[in-house]
Amino acid sequence: MKKMMIRVATLALAVPGTLGVTDALAFRLIQNTGSGRMTSGARVTCDDPAGYVHWNTSSLSWRLNPAGQGGKAGVAAAVQSAMTSWNNVSPAPYTLNYAGTTNAGFVTDGINSVLWGTGNGCSGSCLALTALVLVSGQVITEADISLNDAASWNTGGSDYDVQAVVTHELGHSLGIHHTELQRSRNRPSMYATYFGVAGRSLESDDMDALNCIYGRYPPRSASLIASTAMEPDSRGTQGLGLGLTARPRTGGSVLGFGLSTGGRVKLEVFDVAGRKLATLVDAVETAGNHEIAWDGATTQGRAASGFYFARITTAEGRATATVPLAE
Ligand SMILES: [Zn+2]
Repeated sequence: MKKMMIRVATLALAVPGTLGVTDALAFRLIQNTGSGRMTSGARVTCDDPAGYVHWNTSSLSWRLNPAGQGGKAGVAAAVQSAMTSWNNVSPAPYTLNYAGTTNAGFVTDGINSVLWGTGNGCSGSCLALTALVLVSGQVITEADISLNDAASWNTGGSDYDVQAVVTHELGHSLGIHHTELQRSRNRPSMYATYFGVAGRSLESDDMDALNCIYGRYPPRSASLIASTAMEPDSRGTQGLGLGLTARPRTGGSVLGFGLSTGGRVKLEVFDVAGRKLATLVDAVETAGNHEIAWDGATTQGRAASGFYFARITTAEGRATATVPLAE
């Protein structure tokens, strides 16, 4: 069977090494600290100190462009089945919603699109390509998937299978790189080359990858936690019930805050000299408790391990907390 590369990166053309790779933790994540539209990234492990790309929200809407082979019968259903596979991963709470069709292209426009094209950086032996739009802190704000319209696509189980390839590319859109796992049976969907309809179903390696991302970067809308789980910071708070806290975790820190009413929230991190390093939240948030992971990313690279200060500003007032940044 002819094999075509599915890729998120030119890196994908390399044959991964196999030494020391076991079933456990063979998955890899996409690391890219740049900003803007990206189709490449380093392959890193779950505990990589420099982190990896991730969404800050768990609810992600996708649209299908029906141009070219995107308009074939069954394609929309196949795309939705691919989304369902990732939605079923637990405890990772990401929900990919099918929002209908679009004319959107492979461009940065705020719309997550699945489309067929013959360019978009994916031609010749490339079967499909995912582009991620990144902002500071390796946060994904948009993803687009381009399938090579020069290949022949179908939804009936023959090559090339829409659902299998979209499942793979959606994995990239969530921050997952190609697995290191090399075997001929029960291949993870994030295997680097196309292997037929078996790629439709996620394997434990794929699910572990998404759960790893969730554990490191719990998305805001899924991070409501009991306030009893948060210890007040020794600096206390000046706000009314904001309760800003911070605790270390592998590779960074987790900041928590509670809002008695929804509204505009700004959460910033400063060094001990008072220089602003990062804005973690600048958005309208709902009432309740929130947790935000900070991996140490700043506008000038990753901050060194140590202590920093966070300040939250809302209509209710301001609060500060000491932020321990762990390796
Ligand atoms: Zn790929």
